Amino acid sequence: MNDILNDIKTFEAEAIARLNSVLDKQALDALKIELLGRKGKLADFSKAISKVSDEMRPQIGAAVNRLRKLFEEHIASKEQTFASAVKKQTIDYTLPVRADFLGHKHPLLQTVDDIVDIFKSMGFEIASGPDVETDYYNFDALNTPEDHPARDLSDTFYLKKGVLLRTHTSPVQIRTMEKHKPPVRIIAPGRCYRSDYPDASHSPVFYQCEGLYVDEGVSMADLKGVITAFARTMFGKDIKVRFRPHFFPFTEPSVEYDFSCVICGGKGCRVCKNNGWLEISGAGMVDPEVFRAVGYDSEKYTGYAFGMGVDRITLLRYRIDDIRLLYENDVRFIRQF
Ligand SMILES: [Zn+2]
Repeated sequence: MNDILNDIKTFEAEAIARLNSVLDKQALDALKIELLGRKGKLADFSKAISKVSDEMRPQIGAAVNRLRKLFEEHIASKEQTFASAVKKQTIDYTLPVRADFLGHKHPLLQTVDDIVDIFKSMGFEIASGPDVETDYYNFDALNTPEDHPARDLSDTFYLKKGVLLRTHTSPVQIRTMEKHKPPVRIIAPGRCYRSDYPDASHSPVFYQCEGLYVDEGVSMADLKGVITAFARTMFGKDIKVRFRPHFFPFTEPSVEYDFSCVICGGKGCRVCKNNGWLEISGAGMVDPEVFRAVGYDSEKYTGYAFGMGVDRITLLRYRIDDIRLLYENDVRFIRQF
């Protein structure tokens, strides 16, 4: 009679192995009938009980009952697993919209907006031009000599001969002056491109904001005034501005201008390399050669132009230490602003 007990053991091992390998509800239902059904294997064992000796009967009865309970538990647990898997795949359309998924302006464009607002309040109008420019607008009309290093293939992205991705927003000056007689007072924010290898402070695509004011009697003092007013509105009234002589082909005289460090207040820190000043961009009085290119009378009119690194200003105002973060569009980063 130990044969029956051995059969039950073998059957148990097989059945449990099969139960564990069942992959879906349909297969589980079929196996359930096979194991626990009236014509199932367990029922066969029950029937056999009547044929065994009185002595063996309780043992076999207990073994069959234990097996039934074991199968029922296994099946119930499998059924629960399949049911919750189905639930996970179901989309509940009645759930409320999650507010934290709403988009907002990129920190770079928030800075563009703020720069634009400040200059608009000082009477500037917004101008724009194409990202794909010609040699003429990007270099020639801006008095940039043929052999100027900025024209080099290693600095500029050329699409084909004479056509390039603008390396600065200054072509917008030319396009605006070609269409409008003085007075002209514009700012032109936009993307620029240079073939720089990306690192913490360089990106092959970056944002600039160009400024231009042309009228009778515009002077260097006006330029200093407008840059200083901008710096104080953007970073607070304690910001100091300094101008250093420089050279650009399209302005004469030319300057580079710095803001006192917005991180340490000018005392010296890692960001300002301990000298208390942050280089912002270049500016100057529009070169008469540029006026000639657009047909302005350089005897009658004078003007100033300035550039502004929007990325630099964004990094400073939000205390970001790597320009690449502005272009990777990682939502975990962008959501912080
Ligand atoms: Zn500093």
